[in-house]
Amino acid sequence: MGFREINLQLPTDYTDAALRSVIGRQLGIREFSWQIESKSLDARKKHNIHWLIRVGVLSDELQGGEPFVYPSLEIPRQARTTRVLVVGSGPAGFFSALVLQKAGFKTMLIERGSRVDRRAGRIKEFESSGTFDPINNYAFGEGGAGTFSDGKLTSRTKNIAREKQFILSSYIRAGAPAEIEYLAHPHLGTDNLRHITANLRREFEDLGGEMCFETMLFDLTVSNGRVVAAVTSAGEIPVDVLVIAPGHSAHETYRMLIRNGVRFRTKNFAIGCRVEHPQELINRAQWGRASLPGVKAAEYRLTARGDGSLPVYTFCMCPGGTVVPATAYATANIVNGMSRYRRSGRFANAACVAGFNLESLLGKAVSPLEALDWLSSLEQRFYQYAGGYRAPFATISGFIGRTPPTGTVDSSYPLGLAAAPLWDLLPPRISEAISLGLAEFSRKLKGFDSGIILGLESKTSSPIQVLREPDRCCQGFANLYLAGEGAGWSGGIISSGVDGIRTALAIIEKGY
Ligand SMILES: Cc1cc2nc3c(=O)[nH]c(=O)nc-3n(C[C@H](O)[C@H](O)[C@H](O)COP(=O)(O)OP(=O)(O)OC[C@H]3O[C@@H](n4cnc5c(N)ncnc54)[C@H](O)[C@@H]3O)c2cc1C
Repeated sequence: MGFREINLQLPTDYTDAALRSVIGRQLGIREFSWQIESKSLDARKKHNIHWLIRVGVLSDELQGGEPFVYPSLEIPRQARTTRVLVVGSGPAGFFSALVLQKAGFKTMLIERGSRVDRRAGRIKEFESSGTFDPINNYAFGEGGAGTFSDGKLTSRTKNIAREKQFILSSYIRAGAPAEIEYLAHPHLGTDNLRHITANLRREFEDLGGEMCFETMLFDLTVSNGRVVAAVTSAGEIPVDVLVIAPGHSAHETYRMLIRNGVRFRTKNFAIGCRVEHPQELINRAQWGRASLPGVKAAEYRLTARGDGSLPVYTFCMCPGGTVVPATAYATANIVNGMSRYRRSGRFANAACVAGFNLESLLGKAVSPLEALDWLSSLEQRFYQYAGGYRAPFATISGFIGRTPPTGTVDSSYPLGLAAAPLWDLLPPRISEAISLGLAEFSRKLKGFDSGIILGLESKTSSPIQVLREPDRCCQGFANLYLAGEGAGWSGGIISSGVDGIRTALAIIEKGY
């Protein structure tokens, strides 16, 4: 049996039969099997948009060659009595717990919110009646912040092949489409993510892991630099090792950690708003036509750096998606975006944010607690302006020209819009940068300035970062680990999952 890799260009609406026939013709073989290794859309020339596909082919009619093998994560397993408590069931907490359970630890995972089906019901109720649930919302509940999202699985973090493969193969076992292993821009969609989240929980429990919902970490009992117990809403839980992965919305958890002596520093982050357009407008701008057979919906990623102003970029684009009320607290108002797997909604949305350093923005030293306060008060300002959860909005051309909107506009946002001078609600330097960015994006993408801009987008990354020892323990602690986005060491589903896995591997290596 021989193996060969070949690169092909195929029309967007190719079929498996067509792919098979191209492989056979190109290699001059009749009996073979094949596997797609990578697939990306080449849309550089609007008149010739096609897939670039690399396939690995196995056949008795070929000679030599080594088949492609996905990298795999080695998890050393042995019987242990060490009790590990993991807090938070987002990608960082969940994958950390899964690896620890596979390694033989007695792992308990606690989550402040409910199981994903109950969580989904509470979110639906919020969007239909405006009744906010503090434990089940877009930030909190089983699966973490990304469960109700577009489920994009891209990451710019380097050298994560083994951990990433562990996450992707876990998702596939739990029901994700196999294409996530080879697509250049894989995504799951919120509809898939809900089932995957429940199936992953079952896998963890089948391995002997224990999962407790509606259980919130309130405090730590610390003795001589060791956490001896976690104080939770279900009582004190004795621990040998504690991993906390609460995401970056859990401000009260960070305040508690700081009170207990966990050391953080402030870090650069980004805030802004979300832009929304009809998906057809984006398709026409990117493809030169309203639709493209074989491709769901057009994407974009834009960057701008006006002279002397802050860098502005689009982020977390949701083709065919909806803008959602993503607040984790009753008196805050922020937005985010999500899509279903088919990405077939009428609108496209994306975050449009400016990156900055809070100390240079405010012109003074800022402690981690002050950074959290600053962000919370901005989120509350949007809530107060809107008088609740309507999303403050302007037109994009209005934001550039500082003209408040008049009349109504069409949007996917479920809780209504409130016309607003968004540029006055944001800090001045951020407004200026976003205004310049929007003008530049309007030159790059035809029709961009005809869209709307709404809400506050404040959750692209954490404003603070925990200080870790080289072995990943929190500085000054012998058995406390903070993982994921809220720890300030990751951003996004994949990189947070990777951070959780690496935390688990560090615990295994330390040999508790
Ligand atoms: C609407 C939306 C769309 C997104 N879309 C994407 C996307 O398409 N692709 C992408 O890569 N990223 C996306 N993100 C970002 C992504 O979800 C996060 O980067 C990722 O989930 C962070 O993982 P984490 O495990 O660090 O934290 P989280 O996922 O935030 O999980 C933290 C968990 O801890 C729980 N928790 C918090 N405090 C406590 C406590 N004290 N006690 C017990 N439990 C607690 C929370 O309830 C939560 O379940 C999106 C985020 C949102 C909100």
